[in-house]
Amino acid sequence: MKKHNYSAGPSILPQEVFEKASKAVLDFNNSGLSILEISHRSKDFVAVMDEARALALDLLGLTGKGYQALFLQGGASTAFLMAPYNLMKENGKAAYLDSGTWATAAIKEAKLFGETVVVGSSKDDNYTYVPKGYEIPADADYFHCTSNNTIFGTQMKEFPTTNIPVVCDMSSDIFSRVLDFSKFDIIYAGAQKNMGPAGATLVVVKEEILGKNGRTIPSMLDYSKHIKAESMYNTPSVFPVYVSLLTLQWIKEKGGIAAVEKLNNAKAELLYNEIDRNPLFKGAAAVEDRSNMNVTFLLTNADHTETFDKLWKEAGISGLPGHRSVGGYRASIYNAMPIESVQVLVDVMKALETKI
Ligand SMILES: *Cc1c(COP(=O)(O)O)cnc(C)c1O
Repeated sequence: MKKHNYSAGPSILPQEVFEKASKAVLDFNNSGLSILEISHRSKDFVAVMDEARALALDLLGLTGKGYQALFLQGGASTAFLMAPYNLMKENGKAAYLDSGTWATAAIKEAKLFGETVVVGSSKDDNYTYVPKGYEIPADADYFHCTSNNTIFGTQMKEFPTTNIPVVCDMSSDIFSRVLDFSKFDIIYAGAQKNMGPAGATLVVVKEEILGKNGRTIPSMLDYSKHIKAESMYNTPSVFPVYVSLLTLQWIKEKGGIAAVEKLNNAKAELLYNEIDRNPLFKGAAAVEDRSNMNVTFLLTNADHTETFDKLWKEAGISGLPGHRSVGGYRASIYNAMPIESVQVLVDVMKALETKI
């Protein structure tokens, strides 16, 4: 039986996507060939790449606004260093918001390139909230933030207005909610949270900000080179790009990000309402910063751990334990998670009240 998969990443994808992807592994487009054995330069795959790039911009409302979408490799972790490589000047500086483990990892890379100013941090309270009221130095080469903190279950609800380029790691909430995406100059996201299998990183970049920092950039790390090569500078991750395209088509068919966001809000409300109602549980993140993608919560009495763990496992739930740095539980309710699965978890939480 298919499990209710709450894994934080790699994570759940729409069932239709799994089915279409598995067909393409055996016979892609009735070509008599598997998608795994065709040339990335073949007409059929170039069409996949072109459509995936165009559809990503379309869903974000960025078509015709000077942006390019790329499907690269190396994960969000490589995007951490591509931001300073492509934007930070020699002897320049960058501004970062430290909202969690992934933000900290991005900061560590930027420090290899130059002065890195941390404008705000919630480290003092183990990242249970999103820092606010910070100031971004106007002379920084760019500002970097993390829209959704996958591990801690917090999400930025507002983004600062600034005149310098804004780079945002949207790995765990890309395509989950409507934002004015034109406020961002670089958006990147590892596919494996809300878009596809591990192995592709979506990068959306405003072309005009590139080529201005005077650095010599190694080819594979140079966004301009990838744009020029239409995201085929080297062999792209053919299968992850294809599966990402299937997910983007699924979002489009659902009615786009706005339609998906409505469902995401309903799922999050259902689960947070139970966390707040049920005296056996408490939320891990500050209420105003709660993520609609990664819901972190704890048992109020750790003695109930064994009973609760048995209950959710018996209900067919998988991937619920929290990250080791937070403990407790984390329900990742990405776009593909059906509300029926969230109801199963809520029912289990209610059932715990009768079992203790
Ligand atoms: C998972 C995650 C990363 C790391 O992604 P990789 O693709 O493994 O490099 C970075 N940032 C955020 C917000 C994440 O959720």
